[in-house]
Amino acid sequence: MGLLTPSASAERISRWRWIWILPRLAFILFVGGVALLLWMSDRADKEERRATLISDILWLEQNLRFHLARNEELLGRIDLAHTTSAKAFESFSRTLFGFESGLRQLIWLDADGQILRAHPAITDLGIADDTMEASPSRQSFRLAKSLGKPVYSPAYPFFNNDWQFEVHVPVSREGRVVGVAVGVYRIREILGDSVPWWLAERYRISIVGDSGKVLGTRSKIESAVTEEGYQVDFDPPGWGLTIHAVPYHAPRPLASVLLSASLVILAMVVLWSLWILRRHVLRRQTVEEQLQREHAFRKAMEDSLDTGMRARSLDGEIIYVNPAFCRMVGWSAAELIGRRPPMPYWADDHLDETRAIHDQVLAGDGPGEGFELKFKRRSGEIIDVLIHEAPLIDAQGRHSGWMGSMVDITERKHADERARQQQDRLQSTARLVAMGEMASSIAHELNQPLAAISSYCTGAANLLRNQTPAAEVLPAMDKAVEQAHRAGKVIRRIYSLARPGEHPFERVHLAEHVDAALALMDSEIRQKGIRILLELSPQAVVDGDPVLLEQVLFNLLRNAIESMSDTASDQRQIAIALTCADDYASLTVADRGCGIDASVAMQLFDPLFTTKPEGMGMGLAICRSVVENHRGRLSFEANPEGGTIFHVLLPLAPQ
Ligand code: ADP
Repeated sequence: MGLLTPSASAERISRWRWIWILPRLAFILFVGGVALLLWMSDRADKEERRATLISDILWLEQNLRFHLARNEELLGRIDLAHTTSAKAFESFSRTLFGFESGLRQLIWLDADGQILRAHPAITDLGIADDTMEASPSRQSFRLAKSLGKPVYSPAYPFFNNDWQFEVHVPVSREGRVVGVAVGVYRIREILGDSVPWWLAERYRISIVGDSGKVLGTRSKIESAVTEEGYQVDFDPPGWGLTIHAVPYHAPRPLASVLLSASLVILAMVVLWSLWILRRHVLRRQTVEEQLQREHAFRKAMEDSLDTGMRARSLDGEIIYVNPAFCRMVGWSAAELIGRRPPMPYWADDHLDETRAIHDQVLAGDGPGEGFELKFKRRSGEIIDVLIHEAPLIDAQGRHSGWMGSMVDITERKHADERARQQQDRLQSTARLVAMGEMASSIAHELNQPLAAISSYCTGAANLLRNQTPAAEVLPAMDKAVEQAHRAGKVIRRIYSLARPGEHPFERVHLAEHVDAALALMDSEIRQKGIRILLELSPQAVVDGDPVLLEQVLFNLLRNAIESMSDTASDQRQIAIALTCADDYASLTVADRGCGIDASVAMQLFDPLFTTKPEGMGMGLAICRSVVENHRGRLSFEANPEGGTIFHVLLPLAPQ
């Protein structure tokens, strides 16, 4: 994954914007759907109420018509006996009034319109009065008589804003009109009688005249009406009368209110949760982007490394390799990840060693200071690598595996090897040259005295063979002795030449020379994987020849290294300690090598004594003579941990 460029992040943002449109749309649809549902339910409610209203009003109209029609019929079939006496008429009237049809007065007229009977009593309707031509009673009477059918008068005010109308029913006997029965209906009473309580509770019911004037109203509740009402014509029998009903405002059912409220609350909860979700997602998105940027940065860093990185799980499975590691071994990350030992890059000739160190690392006992191994490239080429393993700690602080860093040291190793071989060659050449020089100088120096001794001895032998007296032979023998002395002197001189002490002594800081000697052996020490433990006191200063003293350190160090050739690689260790005590500087070189047998110990310091096939046997002899020449002492003892400890004791330089 690469670093996020500004255009890539802008693209991501616009993609997110699109993603947010969907929930918003869903929310709008949800709210719209809920509103539509509520509106539809409200409309269905209203329609249902209206249907109920219509059927109620139609029922009321039918009921009224039925009452009026029945009264018409009863009036038309009036028994004339009922009109004979006021008492009979009153009782007949009461019977009719008892039907609760709004009929409140009954009048019996003769054929001329004169009132014969009336209950409650009334004196005149003005029907027979010619001056009252326009009176509704007179017109209705006339019409009824002429048609021979019941006729209703228009409504007219009666008293105190009360309205009434009449029905004139002509009564015929044997084809002749004998009289007209007039029933008077009070509009308020009609409503009172015919409108049942349950209807009055639901609606305000009015009877409205043709001019739109309200002639009577029945309502139980005096509260405001809201919705539009419904009206049916009541004509005939009424003259231009209309029944008008307006429903009271009915409270909406609790369930519907609860449903609406819960839908609104639900919509708000959805909106709120959407908002929370959006905030959360935006926050997450920011963190994710930061994380990606961080990850990309780290990845770029890892990819640019030259050091191979390889992570393994606790059971040894490869879980990560970086490009440098892949380049180093020649296998791709896809081929390596998930692999378990033996790995394809383990060198065939070092399988056991590699597996051992692999197991050691997994067990947590890997060498802390790193270790060298041989790996095999895919091409078959063998490379040397220096590996450092460290525990892999995850985000929870748990140890989840091992992370190894690898450096290809093949080139360096080759260079070291070449340098070592060069040094060996130089050393052996130097040794040969020195030996040759010494041999030739000894040969040259000894040639003369030896030749002289040889000739004196030959002369003396000849004299003795010829029976020459001893006194004459003696001078030749003396000469030979003299030449032998001379040869001895030559040897001593050569010896003294080889001995130090010819050069003036100087202040020698032994610690520095230990370091210098170590530096000379550095490549060999590293090659053999030897651990060096140092404890150097800077106060160890002596008077001496620095070159020779360094030679002593060098020889002791080289012997220590060579003694450990058969020691296991993890046991190879040399401890060098330089301390001061009792006016002496003490230097110990302790190895973990083969140790020194009693038979070897006897001749250890003898010149030319060696147990090595290519040894010269001069090292320790020179060391001892150099040390003694510095008024010091060289000794050795067995190392309790295995191997040998050499001690050098040198007097400290006066302060
Ligand atoms: P060279 O090293 O050439 O053999 P030296 O005089 O330095 O000559 O050593 C003589 C012998 O002493 C060695 O061959 C070896 O057997 C023995 N020796 C010297 N140092 C050690 C040591 N540190 N551990 C075991 N043996 C040693």
